[in-house]
Amino acid sequence: MPSSPRNVDFSSIKAILFDIDDTLFPSSEFSRLARHNAIRAMVQAGLPATPARAGRELEKIVKARGSNYGNHFGLLVRRFHPHNPQRVVAAGVAAYHNTKSSISPYPQTARLLLALRERGFILAVASEGVALKQWDKLIRLGLDPFFHHVFVTSTNKDGKSPAFYRQIARRLRLHPSQILMMGDNPAKDIVPAAAAGMHTGRLLLGKHARERAKASFSLRSLSPLLWILSKHSKTGKFPPPSASFLESH
Ligand SMILES: [Mg+2]
Repeated sequence: MPSSPRNVDFSSIKAILFDIDDTLFPSSEFSRLARHNAIRAMVQAGLPATPARAGRELEKIVKARGSNYGNHFGLLVRRFHPHNPQRVVAAGVAAYHNTKSSISPYPQTARLLLALRERGFILAVASEGVALKQWDKLIRLGLDPFFHHVFVTSTNKDGKSPAFYRQIARRLRLHPSQILMMGDNPAKDIVPAAAAGMHTGRLLLGKHARERAKASFSLRSLSPLLWILSKHSKTGKFPPPSASFLESH
């Protein structure tokens, strides 16, 4: 359930950090669609399996190898012995990339980021994974120009740990209490950022939506963020968003 902030004053917030997947864009939805399209293309190219069966096998491979492994389709093809394995893998890779290259943000994302920048907030991405891949997503989404900073921590190190968030605060020359972290994953976005002393806003989106976690507040989309910051800002340092902003999104 979405929750409102209680007894908090957000007037000290100077910077807002954003996770990428299932926060700025519907990553789970696109991944599902990309795999679905890849499977269909591979079956069409000669994979001797039903799409449902191939889909289940691919799911197992992704789970076992992790999403950053580079040869999921190669392993899948080996399990079914098609007449022309290279053709099948190439068809899958092409369909997968065609879908992945068409990713787009949640409809309200760009407008919200623009409004926050106009109000003077420092905006940054706080992400975990392969830096090139995270940049690739931001550029494809057309969102990279909105951010003052992009911080990516490697999954091989500690990932999104309290130390990562404290390091971001130092880089921004801010106290953690002047920073709000927005994300969908309690274990990576909410718990460690709160442990570092930051405010946290949770998005109830994607596969973690039903997990329990204590955030400063939670939302079903980014749309009301500006309104929440303004409502819970005792100094009233910025005016509430215009009616047109709220109504149009
Ligand atoms: Mg995420």
